[in-house]
Amino acid sequence: MDDCIFCKIVKGELKSWKVYEDDFTYAFFDINPISEYHTLVIPKKHYENIFDITENDFLHLSKTMKKITNMYNKKLGMKNIQIICNSGSEAQQDVFHIHFHIIPRHKGDNQDIKWTTHKEWQENFDKLLEKLS
Ligand code: 5GP
Ligand code: ZN
Repeated sequence: MDDCIFCKIVKGELKSWKVYEDDFTYAFFDINPISEYHTLVIPKKHYENIFDITENDFLHLSKTMKKITNMYNKKLGMKNIQIICNSGSEAQQDVFHIHFHIIPRHKGDNQDIKWTTHKEWQENFDKLLEKLS
């Protein structure tokens, strides 16, 4: 983890703009923000992504995200926020220390997440579920 930029941020070796900190989690502004207050929430302990984080540390992240979104709602009047966690390089993860993006949205921000949907894939749903049983 010596070359992990988010571990360096937690240790104070790299500058960051801190929004919130407790014993388990750290939250700071994304250096390339999509919107004002675009925030990253991370565990202080290094995990790569959703697959190796413990349930306990995942709970800590959830609580911190709730605190921050409550704060943005109360102090800044925010009512529109997207929360995203990219896990794996093919899922567009670039920094391999798990992080959640808290992305405030507002009318006219010129941002748009557009998914390509496939309604016709409904016919495969039963087969997909069989693979889980
Ligand atoms: P990912 O694509 O892995 O979900 O997101 C990584 C995010 O980390 C990007 O939005 C990027 O702007 C942010 N980031 C990368 N390096 C730094 C850094 O040194 N400081 C901060 N605050 N954010 C960073
Ligand atoms: Zn790390």
